[in-house]
Amino acid sequence: HETSPYDARPWLPLYGGRPADIVPEHPNALAMFKAGLAADPDGDAIRYFDGVVSRAELDAQSDALAAGLRDNGFGDGDRLAVYLQNVPQFLVCMLAAWKAGGVLVSINPMSRARELSHLLDDSGATVLVCLESLYGDVARDVIPDSPVQLVLTTSELDYQTRNDPRLFSGAQRVRHPGTRDLLDYIEEHRGEAPAEARLAPDDVAMLTYTSGTTGVPKGAMNTHRNVVFSTTVYRDHWRFDGGSVFGIAPLFHITGMIGHAAISLLAPMPLVLAYRFDPAVVLDAFREHRPTCTIGAITALVALINHPAFERDCFSSFTSIYSGGAPIAPAAERAFREATGHQVHNAYGLTETTSPMTGTPFGVPSPVDEQSGALAVGVPVPSTVVRIQDDDGNDLPAGEIGEIVAAGPQVVAGYWGKPDATAESLPGGALRTGDVGFMNDAGWVFIVDRKKDMINASGYKVWPREVEDVLQEHPAVLEAAVVGIPDEKRGETVKAFVSLKNGTTATPEELIEHCRAAMAAYKYPRVVEIVAELPKTLTGKVLRRELRG
Ligand code: AMP
Repeated sequence: HETSPYDARPWLPLYGGRPADIVPEHPNALAMFKAGLAADPDGDAIRYFDGVVSRAELDAQSDALAAGLRDNGFGDGDRLAVYLQNVPQFLVCMLAAWKAGGVLVSINPMSRARELSHLLDDSGATVLVCLESLYGDVARDVIPDSPVQLVLTTSELDYQTRNDPRLFSGAQRVRHPGTRDLLDYIEEHRGEAPAEARLAPDDVAMLTYTSGTTGVPKGAMNTHRNVVFSTTVYRDHWRFDGGSVFGIAPLFHITGMIGHAAISLLAPMPLVLAYRFDPAVVLDAFREHRPTCTIGAITALVALINHPAFERDCFSSFTSIYSGGAPIAPAAERAFREATGHQVHNAYGLTETTSPMTGTPFGVPSPVDEQSGALAVGVPVPSTVVRIQDDDGNDLPAGEIGEIVAAGPQVVAGYWGKPDATAESLPGGALRTGDVGFMNDAGWVFIVDRKKDMINASGYKVWPREVEDVLQEHPAVLEAAVVGIPDEKRGETVKAFVSLKNGTTATPEELIEHCRAAMAAYKYPRVVEIVAELPKTLTGKVLRRELRG
């Protein structure tokens, strides 16, 4: 492949003189973050409304939590699950999991009982840190049949006093029997620290859940090497390296975990958190905290500029804005640039690439492919090989469309306890992304289609299988097929086609309600169409393309 863009790396000049390869400075994520915490310990680690956690305090609290967990029998490689919004406790737990020699399991706070139960069982988490409100609403009923032995609850009101009514109206402290209070637990162990954990580069640092290209949610095993590498990309290549970083993406997702939590500790710089994404609250926080860098789904960025409280000045402190997780329409990028004066750098990655795989080099405009209208998702990040392949795994030449395949230090070791899924998606250690696209002669990557059935709603991923399984549990449903349909606000949204059993009736509204009760809010179908029969191939496979219209 002498002339193949994959090996010739024609994009290197776009790196602006930065190294083409990253040599990890630290053996594990904990060592990396401890160095960050030790630099200027009085500096702010986290700003959360009017609350501030210093680096020294974050270090002390995570030491105490880790010491307590070790005392309670939490051993090397054990899993600590967090079921939290974007609150400071997330970082305390992340550090504590590693200080205790364990693995962090992050759970989407939108998960309902069925989803939470699956993630706890699958990961084998023995400790759960959970918002009090989520405990009462969801976790309480799930815990008795789960591997969890210790539940630490905490409140969105901890770590700050302002209690913004837009987010926290009605929030109050509730002590649930059978749980311990996280902050009490930390205070009990304050001043203690566990023996130094031995964390090797290939040890699993966290399990982040995704359905990958198919099937049920699986825990992607992000190793310490993956985390150290990816965080360094943000600092050195995407210039998340000064000022403060704002948490627009959810922390449970790999984008928030690396692009907010991890980078804030490495840089080090304060991480500004706002509980969850509410445009008015976020714009206020921009005015107050003057952050310099962020990454978030393009739909969130566009929601900010379209909000009545938006003013150009809200963004005047920023230097580096990236977007990942979902396609960026060139018109949306242009509108954002005109409104704020800032380029949105397109970044592409998966849970399985621990966030970055390609990215728009800092300050370089992304080209648009005339034929597909797609905005380039960037060029490969350092030390990373991106290839375009046919179904048999042969490399295709520049410009030809095929599956995007990646190998590099950010690609996960596999899926937790799922050797078959690992072999299928990561043959020989290279990741078959399920995304379809091409690379041009200059090395820019464009995504034009998808092989996998995934639906991308504002960066939140929905897999038809999960929704179909829930629909199938309704007594009237014979068969169900779920597809993504275009949606102005969310990019795509979820639509279900359903056929009913003979002699039964059900309305679309009833079926929507049935799903809404069982799954995270971004997943349930917004539209249900009842049909006599689903279109199928001769072998009985549902023709999804036909349903998409
Ligand atoms: P996740 O595992 O949630 O990070 O989802 C990864 C998937 O999101 C990828 O396989 C892509 O389909 C999609 N994705 C991520 N970044 C981009 C991007 N910049 N443009 C288009 N699609 C993206």
